[in-house]
Amino acid sequence: MALTIGLTGGIASGKSTVSQMFKEAGIVVIDADVIARKVVEVGEEAYEQIVQAFGKDILSTDKTIDRPKLGSVIFFSEEKRLLLNSIVHPAVRKQMLIEKEEYMNNGEKTIILDIPLLFESKLTALVDRTLLVYVDYETQLARLMERNNLSKEDAKARIQSQMPLKEKIKLADAVINNNGTIEATKNQLHEICDQWDIQIKS
Ligand code: ADP
Repeated sequence: MALTIGLTGGIASGKSTVSQMFKEAGIVVIDADVIARKVVEVGEEAYEQIVQAFGKDILSTDKTIDRPKLGSVIFFSEEKRLLLNSIVHPAVRKQMLIEKEEYMNNGEKTIILDIPLLFESKLTALVDRTLLVYVDYETQLARLMERNNLSKEDAKARIQSQMPLKEKIKLADAVINNNGTIEATKNQLHEICDQWDIQIKS
């Protein structure tokens, strides 16, 4: 039996950094953000449903979905946002399951599902265990301002729009504290792999 792990965090908590560490350790990662872009490519089922629901006005001249245009439509309407989610979420879920099955059939023993909104979108049923990348608020703020070149105010607003990382600690099976150095984070990852009997290349 393969072990499926849901990897999550908050904005700038270090989830991508940890995801990269898993890849370097020879563990496969399925990235929900990549899948969310893939399922709305021209001709995909969710693409057709979005065009049906929102009309051709949200398309660019090359027929791809114009994300800023669609974004402004849903920004002003909760109903439309829910409608879009009702199309995209099941498509993402389905595609994640397909890719998970493929990896399992290929004999992978451990599969990471990298899902930013793992707890918020109730996707925990897709995984056997959950792993949270945690940082304290001050570190998160500083790293977000630095990475995205944001003012303190903008960075705070982005962090505050998400479920607080402290809340996510209560929901996770294991937590990596990413306040320290990259090396310290890698050590914690290796410890968790040990505890969960995950074979890695080190
Ligand atoms: P997320 O994927 O959760 O948004 P990232 O992995 O992109 O977060 O990390 C956010 C920023 O913080 C990036 O610029 C990254 O290089 C940096 N970072 C992540 N972990 C550490 C660490 N332990 N020490 C210093 N900088 C870090």
